[in-house]
This record gives sequence, structure tokens and C-alpha cells, in this order.
Amino acid sequence: MANEVRVRYAPSPTGMPHIGNIRTAMFNWLFARHHGGKFVVRIEDTDQERLVPGAVDGILDGLEWLDIDWDEGPRVGGDFGSYFQSERLPLYHAEAERLIAQGDAYRCYCTRERLAELRARQERDKVALGYDGHCKHLGGPERRVLEDEGAPYVVRFAMPDNGITHLHDLIRDDVEWQNELVDDFVLLKSDGFPTYHLAVVTDDHFMEISHVLRAEEWLSSAPRHLQLYRALGYEPPEHGHLPMILGPDRAKLSKRHGATSILEYRDDGFLPEALRNFMVLLGWSLDDKTEVMPIETITENFTLDRVGKPAAIFDREKLSWMNGVYIREMTPEALAEAMVPFLEKGLPAHLLPVDREYLLNIVPLIHERIKVLTEAPEMVSYFLEEQPAYDPANLVQRGMSEDEAVRALERSIAALRDCEFGTEALEELLRSLGEELELTPRRFFGTLRWAATGRNVSPPLFETLEVLGRDRVVSRLQWALDSLSG
Ligand code: GLU
Repeated sequence: MANEVRVRYAPSPTGMPHIGNIRTAMFNWLFARHHGGKFVVRIEDTDQERLVPGAVDGILDGLEWLDIDWDEGPRVGGDFGSYFQSERLPLYHAEAERLIAQGDAYRCYCTRERLAELRARQERDKVALGYDGHCKHLGGPERRVLEDEGAPYVVRFAMPDNGITHLHDLIRDDVEWQNELVDDFVLLKSDGFPTYHLAVVTDDHFMEISHVLRAEEWLSSAPRHLQLYRALGYEPPEHGHLPMILGPDRAKLSKRHGATSILEYRDDGFLPEALRNFMVLLGWSLDDKTEVMPIETITENFTLDRVGKPAAIFDREKLSWMNGVYIREMTPEALAEAMVPFLEKGLPAHLLPVDREYLLNIVPLIHERIKVLTEAPEMVSYFLEEQPAYDPANLVQRGMSEDEAVRALERSIAALRDCEFGTEALEELLRSLGEELELTPRRFFGTLRWAATGRNVSPPLFETLEVLGRDRVVSRLQWALDSLSG
């Protein structure tokens, strides 16, 4: 590529960014990194009525959490600022004036009422909706009267009445629109703010953006943008419209499918590396089979010919699975570290702080099974509690008498008080004790598992006993015995 690759992520701070927005950010970032270009973040805050306080920070914090770094934009600056559209109004005004002077745009004084009537008429007549060009045809004197009155106005673009606008899209190939079907859209609103169309084209030009990669929902805006590029005398950037993201039911992705804002994934116990890997597969693939891959592999291979046209399906189950894969790749130390904030949030205060060394012993027991970090408190709590709460009736396994359970506990306590307390030694000891007691392993170990952990599923029993340690195990077995014989 001859010129430098410069791509941008241009979110509107109208809410917290969801997975679709960030997928767009990520594809632009990967494209920039692949080509050794620049990744720019620009805040499109021109719709003053829809601004949501805190959204800009939510967007930037989300990117930072995912380690998607940007070369220019808020928090980092750059030579093409401001990176907030609300601070670039004079530029849009100048370009709008230029278009008016050239005859490519005009002031429209139509009132809200007239526009509502027009729309109602179009709906009734079942014809295409859109502005009818009324003010384009105002005569000079009429226009002067309105100007002298200081009547409020918007500035509209004068779309060509005929001809075709053609886009060679990097992902969707050739797309064409008939100009007569595109109405004279607004460039500047009556509050003096530009619309998305004017701002996006002006900024992409002045920020020297080489490629516009954005969600498919913006494809229908492309003919407007291309006509604006022409009228303004700018060279248009390349365009690529990324495939839609749908839920497993093929409906538009929403919260209902578990697609929440990006920082909620952090709070729900997902790892940024796993989320990134998952997101890149929403539209891109390496070879149709490799799913888990390091970011270096993704960056190295990130080209647009591997981005598909069909909609991508968002499957939260797959994300959880992938998160588990990434968790298993962590060292026990890193996992323990990552679990701490979740334990601090999810465990009752009396179990805190968690002893790091003890936690490091617990981690290998849950490392294979944990999928999201929010599961940590539940998986760890019974290691920490003085005495886990459970119904002692569970101690008596199916097909076993209460006397047998009592005896099993008595004999185990006696044996465990004074034995080597390592996994292998415990296994040997308890297996032969079970045989001596003439109890099947299912029954004997079932009783011991309930007594030691207060639950019927746990990591492998002997490892668990070793980690719990003699004192805890003996006192829990004693509690079990007391509650049966008491
Ligand atoms: N501000 C638009 C958005 O929120 C940007 C669309 C574009 O990338 O052109 O998605």
C-alpha cells in the first residue's frame, strides 16, 4: 500500500459500547497493526440530545482493558485533533458554506409541521419517504424574506437528481445506488451542529483516513458520503463494511443474547485476551478451523479477504468455553491473582482477606473447571469456611445405614489424626479403610466428601483433603459425626 494506512474507530457516546461497537474498533486496530499504520479514535459527539454522561470514559476504559491501544485520539492527543467532533464545529460550518456557495447545498426553512405533513402524505400515498426538495427551488426574493426574518434553517445537501453512485467495497464488492432514491439529507442542523454525514466525511478527509471499516448498518449512508466527497473535492477513502452480528436465533444482537457492554464482561469474569479472540471470530477467520490463537497470529494474518460477508453469530456459550481455555493457559500464580478481586467481591467479609499461599494451593484443584472468574467465590468458599453448612442427612449415602456412616466417620477420624497427609498416602489409607469397613468406594467416599467439603461434587477427593489439611478435615469430620450421633 503506497500511502500510510490510517484507520479510525468513531464511536458516538450515546451509551456504553457493546460487543458490536468494540468488534469494529478491534478490526480497525488489527488492520492498522497488520499494515504498520495508525489507529485513530474519534468521538462523534454531535448528537447533543443523545449524549450519555460517562459514555466516553466507558468506551476508552473498555479499549484500555482489552489492550487495544490507539495512536491518536482522546487521552493520547495527536496532530489531527481535536478528536472530539463537538470541538470542530468551525470546520464543518466552513465546508457547509463552501457547498452552499458552489450550489451543492442549500438552506432549508421547512418547519417541523411541514415536514410532518409531507411524511404523512408520503405514507398515505405509499411512496418513498424523504425530503421533497421544496427549499431547493425557493426563488431569490422568497429566500431573502426568510433570511431577513431570521427564520431558523437547516442546511441540506443537493443530491444529484439522476445517475448512479457506485462503491467498490473491500468486503461487499460492488454496490450501486440510484441517486434519485436518495433525498436531500441534512448537513447542518438548526442547532448549528453537523449531522453524522457532514462530520464523518469532513473528518475522515482532514484526518487523512485511508480506510473506513465500519458496521454494515452504515452501508446505506455510503452513497451520501461518496457524493459529499465528490462535491467537496476530496478523494474518498477505501470502504469496507463489516458483517452484521446476530444472536443464535438470528435476530439482531441484543442484551437478551447476553451481549452486554464491554466493561460488564470484565465484571462478569471474562479475560480480555479471551474476549478479543472471541470478537475477532465475529466476521474474520484464519482458516475455518483454528479458533484459539494468540493475538500475534491474528495480527499477522489480519487481512480483509478473510472477512466474510455473511452475518456472524454471537454465542455466549462459546465465549465462556474460550474463556476457560484461556484460563487454563494461565500460570496458577496469575490465576490466583486474577481471582482475588472476584473473591473480595463475592465472599462474605469474615472469609477475607484470603491467604495467598493457601489460595495458591487451592488453584490447581479448580484450574481445569473454572470458566469465568465470577465462579471463583463459589468454588473456593468451602476451603475457607470454618465449617460449611449442609444437611447432615446427606452423610448417609444411598444403600447405607446410619450406623455405617457413623462408623466410617469414627474410623476415618482416628486414622487421619495420625497419618501422612499427602494425596497418595491418603488415597492408600482410605481405600484400605473402606475395604475393611466393607463399604463400596462410592458410599465411603461419598460420606467423606460431604463431611469434608459440605457438598456432593468437589475436585478429586484426596487432593482436596490434602489442601484442606489435617486440622480442617478432622474437625469437619468430627462435626459430621457429632451431628449424626447427636
Ligand atoms: N459514529 C458512528 C457510530 O457510532 C460511526 C460510523 C462510522 O464509522 O462511520 O458507529
